[in-house]
Amino acid sequence: MAAEIFYDADADLKLLENKKIAILGYGSQGHAHAQNLRDSGCEVIVGARGEGPSYELAKSHGFSPMSLQQAAEEADIINLLLPDERQGDLYEQELRQVLSPGNILMCSHGFNLHFGYVAAPDGVPTLLVAPKGPGHLVRSEYLAGGGVPCLVAVGDTGDEATFQVGLAYASAIGGGRAGIIRTTIAEETETDLFGEQAVLCGGLSALIKAGFDTLVEAGYQPEMAYFECMHEVKLIVDLFYQGGLNYMRYSISNTAEYGDYTRGERIITEETRAEMKKILAEIKSGQFAREWIDESRSGGDRFDSQRIAERTHGVEQIGKELRRLMSWIDEKEV
Ligand code: NDP
Ligand code: MG
Repeated sequence: MAAEIFYDADADLKLLENKKIAILGYGSQGHAHAQNLRDSGCEVIVGARGEGPSYELAKSHGFSPMSLQQAAEEADIINLLLPDERQGDLYEQELRQVLSPGNILMCSHGFNLHFGYVAAPDGVPTLLVAPKGPGHLVRSEYLAGGGVPCLVAVGDTGDEATFQVGLAYASAIGGGRAGIIRTTIAEETETDLFGEQAVLCGGLSALIKAGFDTLVEAGYQPEMAYFECMHEVKLIVDLFYQGGLNYMRYSISNTAEYGDYTRGERIITEETRAEMKKILAEIKSGQFAREWIDESRSGGDRFDSQRIAERTHGVEQIGKELRRLMSWIDEKEV
């Protein structure tokens, strides 16, 4: 079934008039939502902890940040733009008790609503508006007169009126200029987790590392391995982005195209597809969510040590040196 897509003309911004919107968290998504909503004429307050960098950033953007609890208490629409793994505990400790019937509880990723770490009180519908892009793009596209496509979904307690508020919100952050797609909290949560684990982050990083390691172990220069297995990924992905796999195959050499058809399926084998199904099953059953929340609650030591180990992989070391030579790249270092 094809998705239902909405644009600015379908959204009624009046639904946000006389509503105070609390943006809780001023990170990647928070800073973009808060500023785009304000520029679209909405009344926005920001919740941020005093000791974190976000507090000062929100102040420098002309907001008067207050505690998460105070912002939630003052607002009609409360958007949780905090780290997913912290949302459930912060919600229980500071937020649930100050929500009242008629409020709308929002998020940009359904993780906590779907897996039950955040449960709205009676009379408080839940609503998801998820831009399909990082916060800096949500902001820069809006300023450039465009927008990032958004997903809108209402939770179990939500209804058509809540969906209409979601359309207005998505339009106010710029999504209606690009397209707003109706989904469900379950679909957004499960597909988002699957995409990032199997393809975008997990799958692609593992593919790049394996390709790089194979060449380096075979005695080729790491610089060559970096260009072939990491740098050129962007050139290929840009072609996908513009015209799909067909356009990529039209642009590359016949030799590359023949290699694609005859070798690709030897990398992504039946076994890989079976593993993808297992990963999806772990997501759907809540097993992944439990594992991640438990990891975070127990201090995140395993996560931290994985982070450190990954930062020193050979492809990262050579990449740092090579990117410095490519002056056109807006180089970022973590
Ligand atoms: P970030 O990590 O960029 O920002 C998190 C914010 O939460 C920061 O402002 C941080 O403030 C604040 N925060 C963290 N811990 C606490 C705390 N204990 N008390 C008060 N404030 C705290 O998160 P994102 O913007 O990436 O993610 C927010 C939501 O948006 C998530 O649900 C995510 O899944 C979703 N999302 C993210 C996308 C992305 O591309 N980043 C895309 C679509 C959805 P401080 O500076 O004080 O640490
Ligand atoms: Mg995603």
